[in-house]
Amino acid sequence: MHIDTKCVHAGGYPDAQTGGINTPIFTSSAYKYLDTDTRLYQRYFNTPNQEAVVKKICELEGAEDGIVFSSGMAAISTVLLSLLKSGDHAVVQDEIYGGSHAFVEEHLGKLGISFTLTGREVQEIEKATKTNTKLIYIESPTNPLLNVVDIRRVAGIGKQRGILTVIDNTFATPVNQNPFLLGIDVVLHSGTKYLGGHSDLYCGVAVARKDIAAIIRKTAANFGGSLNAMSCYMLERSLKTLSIRVERQTHNALRIARFLEKHHVVSMVNYPGLESHSGYKIASSQMSGFGAMLSFELKDRTAIDFMRRLRIIKPALSLGGVDTTICDPATTSHQKVSGDVRKRLGISGNLLRLSVGIESVEDLIEDIQQALEDK
Ligand SMILES: *Cc1c(COP(=O)(O)O)cnc(C)c1O
Repeated sequence: MHIDTKCVHAGGYPDAQTGGINTPIFTSSAYKYLDTDTRLYQRYFNTPNQEAVVKKICELEGAEDGIVFSSGMAAISTVLLSLLKSGDHAVVQDEIYGGSHAFVEEHLGKLGISFTLTGREVQEIEKATKTNTKLIYIESPTNPLLNVVDIRRVAGIGKQRGILTVIDNTFATPVNQNPFLLGIDVVLHSGTKYLGGHSDLYCGVAVARKDIAAIIRKTAANFGGSLNAMSCYMLERSLKTLSIRVERQTHNALRIARFLEKHHVVSMVNYPGLESHSGYKIASSQMSGFGAMLSFELKDRTAIDFMRRLRIIKPALSLGGVDTTICDPATTSHQKVSGDVRKRLGISGNLLRLSVGIESVEDLIEDIQQALEDK
């Protein structure tokens, strides 16, 4: 099956009673147990709505098994703490999502788990591994500069040294990138972004091989970050349109990136689909599309001033929805990062991060153009 067909038909729950073609929403938190071996309970991640949506996500990622969480951070924290124990070492890319970075910094050390933060180059990642390294954690493309990590080679290091590899695949989505098929062991998503896709749903996902998923699920039952039936259903419904949404968003993003690249008020555009981008070659080898996130820098005007002039595009936090949204990372996602570190990472005060939606790209370009030129 092609991905468009999988989005619609994979997983789900056959409604034998009515023949309805959608998964019913099973609201019970208590299930009878006398005549069955199963013990259904939301926190055990085995209820019908959880299983219906997990099956669909696994097929989209090409993975064996998975778990749906109540947030992206619930997925990330649970995965890290289920696969690492006191005395272990982890190699963590330094450009990851702010919340993941904070989690690593604040919680691994006090549990006796050491870690090394590294750059995105494979040589740096390899050099950071030690004899007790148990896990390598990466993200690609990164936020907000859209840098690209060579996923196949990182997976190769893991396989060669017996180290588990974990990736946050939120920005790429399963439509544009399937790290599992490139050899990565655990693939994570903040489902709050593209998987949900309408800025109205909060969830997270982890998919992995069966034996690894079983380890994660066991810890997850202790931590309790499970997803409720209604949200599972909304996620399942959203996934039916994932491929058409992301395809349109990706197409729009490339057009906007090309437009911005030529504009005299724009000094830099970061989009892995531009030949000028440092990650273009690797991205071409591991992504089927370059995604719908991009960032750019303005000459002689502030990010805030530009955002106030926009008429369609909404200055808002979060990303991945059908609405095009924009933010300035220096006062939002990277506000807590010190000025020096921001400078080293390349996040300036007039950098803007655009999450491209499904609107007509002509309207979006016109909106950006009038805001750039109106001065
Ligand atoms: C938003 C985000 C997260 C965190 O997800 P929540 O659903 O907000 O907990 C993790 N990784 C990336 C790349 C994100 O964009």
